[in-house]
Amino acid sequence: MLEKNQIYEAVITDYTAQGQGIAHVDGITVFIPNAIAGERVRLRIEHVGKTWAGGKITEILEKSPHRVNRECPVSKLCGGCDFWHMDYQEETRLKAERVKTCLNRLAGEQLEEIPILSAPACFGYRNKAQYPVASKKGRACAGFFRAGTHDVVENSRCLILPRETDMVKDAVMDYVNQYRIPTYDETTHKGLLRHIYVRRGAVSEQILVCLVVNGEKLPRVPELIERLKKIPGFTTLVLSVNTKKGNAVLGDKFITLYGPGFIEDTLCGLNFRLSPRSFYQVNHHQAQRLYQAAIQQAAITKDDLVLDLYCGVGTITLAMAAYAGKVIGVEVIPQAVEDARDNARRNGIKNAEFFCGDAGQAALELEKQGIRPDVITVDPPRKGLNAEAIEAICRMNPRRLVYVSCDPATLARDVALLKERGYTLKTAQAADLFPRCAHVETVCLLSRNK
Ligand code: SAH
Repeated sequence: MLEKNQIYEAVITDYTAQGQGIAHVDGITVFIPNAIAGERVRLRIEHVGKTWAGGKITEILEKSPHRVNRECPVSKLCGGCDFWHMDYQEETRLKAERVKTCLNRLAGEQLEEIPILSAPACFGYRNKAQYPVASKKGRACAGFFRAGTHDVVENSRCLILPRETDMVKDAVMDYVNQYRIPTYDETTHKGLLRHIYVRRGAVSEQILVCLVVNGEKLPRVPELIERLKKIPGFTTLVLSVNTKKGNAVLGDKFITLYGPGFIEDTLCGLNFRLSPRSFYQVNHHQAQRLYQAAIQQAAITKDDLVLDLYCGVGTITLAMAAYAGKVIGVEVIPQAVEDARDNARRNGIKNAEFFCGDAGQAALELEKQGIRPDVITVDPPRKGLNAEAIEAICRMNPRRLVYVSCDPATLARDVALLKERGYTLKTAQAADLFPRCAHVETVCLLSRNK
């Protein structure tokens, strides 16, 4: 039996989905942060559960050749990234391995290797940041949460963000401190400023600043705008009203305080309008490569009808429109659907149509109307497809189904269900859109059995 606070020796054999190391001690699985597969370590047990334990490395007895010095000085505290202690080669290996293991174990595949599109840059790639704001010892601060807590860890320079994004945070905090803008306190539900949300177009370099407030108004707006205008690319300032308790960052109401309320960016050669609520992949370069892989797998022809479920602002839908007869996008957030329609117009795309609604319900509805797409693409959130979506897809009976996924476990679960319904997994390709973080994207092609 493992004992809390006792020291044990173990070899790290694998990684969890969150990027922690796994070791087996006395038949118990132990999760260990900052560990690398192959390392032999001494660890202190910090938590003993029924089926697993948590530990911390006290000494590395045999160091992995993939261990590196952390380039981010706060990375051990900050919950934003997971992999600053290892080289990028090991990070991409473990990500591809994770996708493979999920598909083999949960979807009955026998894949030997999964290719991964590695990112050319681990620095400055994220086009969006959401800094929580808090007060510590009477001083306002902004940063990122420490893993598993709501304790704000300050960081003067976040290495995966562009410099301009940190400049926005600094400008807003300068304003907050000078005018004593009250910061929000979750425990009392009092105070005003909750989050600083920044989105920057990788190509356009336009910056959208959205301040999330527990209220309807912000004091001293001209003084804030004056500060933001000094930052290259600052385009618009939006207030997001979020007076609810809980962890959702953005509220439902948006008030534009400066500029158009959205920014533009170019992706896959198309111009996109982006509002604060709209989903937009955070890694521009890698998103383009992911979408290109999806387009290639879809092998669309000019006669094809393509249905894109979970389409966001229409990125994949519109990128596919040029190759297809017609494309239909379905998305649940009304603002994103508005953006998607506007994006079709601004690119002169006439063969695209968008519907607002739950993907499964909308697809069932389209199926009832007799819509039979040749190709369906899906790009659901982490929870994957629901039963209705799978039912609608199978009833529509497309030739090809391209599945873009941000969670290999739910992807593999859905692939297993689709295999039972007459589809075969043809190719699976991983893509690293989040260097230094544990998330991994996958794009899969399933085709209908003859
Ligand atoms: N394909 C797009 C968006 C992918 S993110 C892109 O790559 O840019 C997933 C999208 O699914 C988000 O826009 C989210 O708002 C939407 N979504 C989440 N749940 C949904 C549901 N039940 N039905 C339809 N869309 C949903």
